Amino acid sequence: MTPVLSVPILAGWISGWVINYLADALPITRRLSRPTCRQCNQEYPIPAYLSFGRCPKCGHARGLRPWIVQAAMMILSLYTWFRPHAMGYALGMLLLTYFAVVIVIDLEHRLILHPTSMAGTLLGLGIGIYVNRIIPTLLGGLGGLAIMFVLYYLGVLFSKLRARRLKATGQEADDEEALGAGDVILACVLGFVLGWPLIWFGLLLGILLGGIIGVVLILALILSGRYGKNALMVFIPYGPFFILSAFFILFLPNWIVNVMPR
Ligand SMILES: [Zn+2]
Repeated sequence: MTPVLSVPILAGWISGWVINYLADALPITRRLSRPTCRQCNQEYPIPAYLSFGRCPKCGHARGLRPWIVQAAMMILSLYTWFRPHAMGYALGMLLLTYFAVVIVIDLEHRLILHPTSMAGTLLGLGIGIYVNRIIPTLLGGLGGLAIMFVLYYLGVLFSKLRARRLKATGQEADDEEALGAGDVILACVLGFVLGWPLIWFGLLLGILLGGIIGVVLILALILSGRYGKNALMVFIPYGPFFILSAFFILFLPNWIVNVMPR
């Protein structure tokens, strides 16, 4: 391994550790606590934790997620090392680490946590001002908020209509929301990073990606004969799709230049 490769490989590995740790600790205790076993709640010894070994107390395995995260971050780190982008390698890795924390926690807990939202807001402001200057950055954040508030209240309206329908048919109403407050803050963060006018395109692309996956899921349910009345509400966490869309725009710029109307 040449010395130059050891920097992105090491940085990718450390970023993976940070993501795995935050995704283990934050959803449970909301603070930077010692990671505990999901099965027996015992604190992990640090060497066993960092090597993704089984819980020494109960033998509970950590599963595939730690390894997927480590591999993904090393690949992303190598990619951004060799394909420079506007914000530079180090800031890019910070942003990718934040993206990954939000995605993993959202997929595992259907939650976007306030501590990650706050960290994202600061990081997004910093990157936006560094890359796009202050006015497009603030306008981007405002634009992201405005677009998402409209979608959020449409979602609330939809939930109310659905609860009324469930009540009319004698079913238990739930409080599932397609878009949560965390998604609204995430859109503001992405608005800071992408700036105005790119944010509207970023959110639109995210909604399209989420919609396409939703249709594919529903088709798969229909084809496998498991499509029931309630399956109409396949839960789609939009956060990961907004992030995926922002990733395409920020880190695959050659592709986007050809698509984005200016
Ligand atoms: Zn255990």
